[in-house]
Amino acid sequence: MDGKRYILAIDLGTTSVRTLAYDLQTNEIINIAQKKISQFYPHPGWVEQDAVEIVTAIISCLERTISNLSADLIYGVGITNQRETIVAWDKKTGKPFHRAIVWQCRRTFDYCEQLKKDKRTADMIHRRTGLLVDSYFSATKMAWLLKNSERTAKARAAGRLCFGTLDSYLIYCLTGGAAFVTDHSNASRTLLYNLKLQDWDPELCKFFDIPMESLPRIINCDEYIAEFKIKGKNLRLGGLIGDQQSSLFGQNCVRAGDFKTTYGTGAFMLANIGNAPVLNKQLLTTVAWKTSEGIVYALEGNMYSAGSCINWLQDHLRLISNPSESESLAGSVVDTGGVFFVPALSGLGAPFWKGNARATFSGITLSTTSAHLVRAVLRGITYNTRAVFDYMRSSFPINEREMRVDGGMTANSLLMQFQSDIMHFPVNVSAVTESTALGACYMAGLCFGAFKNIESISKLYKSKKIYKPTAHDTKRESNYEEWLRIVERL
Ligand code: ADP
Repeated sequence: MDGKRYILAIDLGTTSVRTLAYDLQTNEIINIAQKKISQFYPHPGWVEQDAVEIVTAIISCLERTISNLSADLIYGVGITNQRETIVAWDKKTGKPFHRAIVWQCRRTFDYCEQLKKDKRTADMIHRRTGLLVDSYFSATKMAWLLKNSERTAKARAAGRLCFGTLDSYLIYCLTGGAAFVTDHSNASRTLLYNLKLQDWDPELCKFFDIPMESLPRIINCDEYIAEFKIKGKNLRLGGLIGDQQSSLFGQNCVRAGDFKTTYGTGAFMLANIGNAPVLNKQLLTTVAWKTSEGIVYALEGNMYSAGSCINWLQDHLRLISNPSESESLAGSVVDTGGVFFVPALSGLGAPFWKGNARATFSGITLSTTSAHLVRAVLRGITYNTRAVFDYMRSSFPINEREMRVDGGMTANSLLMQFQSDIMHFPVNVSAVTESTALGACYMAGLCFGAFKNIESISKLYKSKKIYKPTAHDTKRESNYEEWLRIVERL
């Protein structure tokens, strides 16, 4: 093992960036450094970030993470990032032409609605990319920039345009322009990547009018990228993977059928579906990772509102004064008193895709208390998760031995118990809260030879707590069906 001990990861999130070190000897994460990222909202529904600020924040975090580590002990640095967010920059100077357009940004909503009206086009795009036509993904954001940013359009004409997701821009900056790359997991979120070709799709680039020569080269997730310097220390970059795929990898869901859900602001369920893409109209199909061992695909269900419902209960309804109170308050009653909640605070994502739906409470009477409402919110989140799962298992034999989970909301035991009860199998909370960053550490470890292969990594999984389903209760299933009927009417 050439005396090395640490693997570093950069976790480029939506609200903050983090860097950390994974200590192979103790199997623990140390030296976490974090910095918040400014969000810009130039119009309602539009979200932008400053790509230069992000790179500067990452460099300063990296400086802190490595301050007490000798470069000789470090294998290298992996990257995981918020996906779909797009940057346009100058090939010569590395300077962006416009603020980064963030995945949440809805500025191309109308354009996407227009595209979706032509069912044949929507089907063609789904067949090739595994994705739905939605402003969430990168291609329509790029098309918007080419139309609305004069500097971007001019750079295209002058052959100086680089278009990439944030991983590409970060790598370009860290390596002084020496590497212009992205990986398959990130590329597969752009609407320009063909799942079967495993490459940019020339016809889709033409369809969205995106110059293919402006896009980065796609590399394997475990491929070596380049060297760079931080505070005079030489570090190696390698191990690149989008955040949700990274948490699937970090949760060691490496066998076909394994799956996980991350409960953060939103909730993301991803299932490893092995080496061939499987399509489901209610879910997304995406590249989980491509390494020297081959390609692995995933089915993905994005639920837009999960932890955000808890924040809303706290900040807007003031029913709770902190997130953990959602558990004690909901636990103070034995049921929801017939109240149902649909968590559509930002529209409904998977598996219903009702972008314009609004959240609802129903079944309220004079005897309803705040405890019933909060309990109904927790139930609603678990029903939505079950609904995503039902679509997944209709397309692929999902391993029902357990669902692995991570994210801030897994601290809520009642929520986890509800989830296990409605799934009818165990929910396994990971001991490592940073499973997204851990996925990037594992990928970098593969790149730099810290691990022999993926199989050897899968033994590293550590569980914190397993929630097993309580005795079967027919009411539970009929409540879920009632909830589905409410969603149908939205
Ligand atoms: P993100 O990475 O999306 O910012 P995190 O994984 O950090 O999200 O989780 C934060 C979310 O988890 C917040 O929305 C917060 O309200 C929620 N949360 C944290 N603790 C609890 C709890 N005990 N019960 C319910 N929700 C919680």
